[in-house]
Amino acid sequence: MNWITNYVRPRINSLFSRREVPENLWSKCPECGTMLFHRELTENLNVCTNCDHHMAITPRDRLTALFDGGVFTEVKVPEPIADPLQFRDQKRYPERMKAAQKSTGEKEAMLVAEGEIARTPVVIAAQDFSFMGGSMGMYVGNAIIAAAERAVKRKRPLILFSAAGGARMQEGILSLMQMPRTTVAVEMLKEAGLPYVVVLTHPTTGGVTASYAMLGDVQIAEPGALICFAGPRVIEQTIREKLPEGFQRAEYLLEHGMLDRVTHRKKLREELVSLLRMMTGQPAPVAGDLPAPAPTPQPPLQPSEAPAGAATGDKAAPRPASADAS
Ligand SMILES: [Zn+2]
Repeated sequence: MNWITNYVRPRINSLFSRREVPENLWSKCPECGTMLFHRELTENLNVCTNCDHHMAITPRDRLTALFDGGVFTEVKVPEPIADPLQFRDQKRYPERMKAAQKSTGEKEAMLVAEGEIARTPVVIAAQDFSFMGGSMGMYVGNAIIAAAERAVKRKRPLILFSAAGGARMQEGILSLMQMPRTTVAVEMLKEAGLPYVVVLTHPTTGGVTASYAMLGDVQIAEPGALICFAGPRVIEQTIREKLPEGFQRAEYLLEHGMLDRVTHRKKLREELVSLLRMMTGQPAPVAGDLPAPAPTPQPPLQPSEAPAGAATGDKAAPRPASADAS
């Protein structure tokens, strides 16, 4: 069946008509070119099952996968002034906003939520690269401040998932002002003695790497993520030199001391929980998702009910004894 669904069907469809494959059924891995069944890819948190390439994942899907039982409460973010500069390039800024809202189904480029991961209360802010390149405007600044304030108020650690192309040019200097604002927000957490963990995802660039995305107590990155201030192409053109292989990618930065960890998306949940519990002096995490209901006490086995193997084994011996004791 696998051979038919994974190889024969895509080949036949590509030979005859592309329109016969609904776009939402198959995705092509941009790294290795494997056709991936959509549901399988979603179950694997948008990581290629063939080459482990980490594709983009929306903040909402990420939070659903992280929080216990997929349950979280959104933290309200104060609305900034809309289009303060009356900015217009080929399109007016409000039109671009509307288009981004329609295509992503989100209000802005950052989602803030609180809940529990393996029974560990946390606040999470996750940036959305698909929303105008995850650009840092006033709303994103407000979102980080709201997240930090909520974390301080509820004495919870803050986790931030970054993904950004930099500042939002439609907001001009007001966008750049989010760099000191968010730095002060991170400082609030440090003063309150609360952990701030940053997970850098592909790509995190520009002003974001010059402020809140680089100020974590622990800096984790997803494999292969591009993390930089100025991109490799700009640097290459400026210094007129060929850059080394993998330059500004997560693994390269880990090797050069810019990061603490590079962690596979599927191991991230476990790692975040262990880290946060260690940093806040809590006992080891509960394994798995939601804890199983409390086990109902089993009545002691009667010798006649005991499994045949156990009755004669050494392990069967203590059972009647403990039954007598209770
Ligand atoms: Zn792949």
